[in-house]
Amino acid sequence: MNGEGFIQRVRVLRLLLVLTLVLCSVFAAVNLLRGSFAVAGGLAMLALFSAALFIHLPKSQRIKAWSLCYLILFSLTMMASMLDTSVSNQSFLWLLLIPTMAHFIHGRHQGLVLSLGFLGAARTLYYFTQGVSNNSHSLVDFIHIVSVSLALTGMIYTFEYTREKAEKKLHKLASTDALTGLANRYQLKQALDQTWQQARRFNRRFSVMTLDLDWFKSINDRYGHDAGDQVLRHVAALMRLRLRASDNPSRWGGEEFLVLLPETDRRGAETTAEAFRTTLAGTPMQLHGQPVTVTASIGVAEYPADGDTIEALLIMADRRLYHAKEQGRNRVVTSDNTPLPETPAKTAALTAALD
Ligand code: GH3
Ligand code: MG
Ligand code: MG
Repeated sequence: MNGEGFIQRVRVLRLLLVLTLVLCSVFAAVNLLRGSFAVAGGLAMLALFSAALFIHLPKSQRIKAWSLCYLILFSLTMMASMLDTSVSNQSFLWLLLIPTMAHFIHGRHQGLVLSLGFLGAARTLYYFTQGVSNNSHSLVDFIHIVSVSLALTGMIYTFEYTREKAEKKLHKLASTDALTGLANRYQLKQALDQTWQQARRFNRRFSVMTLDLDWFKSINDRYGHDAGDQVLRHVAALMRLRLRASDNPSRWGGEEFLVLLPETDRRGAETTAEAFRTTLAGTPMQLHGQPVTVTASIGVAEYPADGDTIEALLIMADRRLYHAKEQGRNRVVTSDNTPLPETPAKTAALTAALD
């Protein structure tokens, strides 16, 4: 469950708890006044449990376990009220809330299982205690109740199914770059935050590499914007091929890419960056029937040696990327003093292709 989903579920459950607290208190008082002490006691216990859980819930990480306890208590209390008809014989109606509660808090699969389990138990109890088999009128009532229970469960399950699908689609749209299919800035920022927090907590290292394509404006000017887009897709495809998914290749914006390498020190990042640079420079692509070699300049920074915040690390990686450009492009710079040697043949190929 993501952070947003967790907060949403806590909110829904807390709202249910307030409603339960108010309604159960009122009905407990009514049952008490009418002399239905067992039901009044059950309702009062449910009200107290709701109040305690309302306070505890924001601090708890076990929202589903607590929700299950709530559902069990709620179902048992309502089933007990159903057996005692001295105050009302309509208590079974409350059980119709179970599918909504179960699906909102437990999601589609567990929600369905819990709904069918609790409603099945309640309806079986109803069948055997309300003399359904002896009287055709009661049998029709029973069929109505079971049909409404099943229809509600089915409708809420279908609603959750389409909602989950739409949520997944939206999440993909929000976290993927439409042109290249790589992770976008938003997704990478989340991965950066997570990696940074873990590295800080467990004293681990990680690296980032920022990559900017060389002479990209000239490609756009010479071959057109669509060809430029084709180049961006070509670079992304090579990234997917050469880097691991755990390296989080992403499009940071324009023709700049960022790669986050968890559990990787400067040396490891340098090897990865250099391997990718060589692959890119050694894989020419066809634009308007002409072979074009695309190269990139790469800056690498390592946590915590080059900065102990994400901002500091990115600034350092950017500065090294800038040095790589200054020193002739098509190279990797991993420290401020020791830029890697240029590869003249590749630069010459690029210049020739762009002339
Ligand atoms: P340098 O080697 O110094 O990086 O030179 P450069 O020509 O690559 O310069 P720069 O990095 O500033 O180029 C950015 C260009 O990228 C400007 C913009 O037209 C182009 N660009 C940004 N986003 C896109 C895009 O989505 N598609 C295309 N085709 N071009 C883009
Ligand atoms: Mg740029
Ligand atoms: Mg560029």
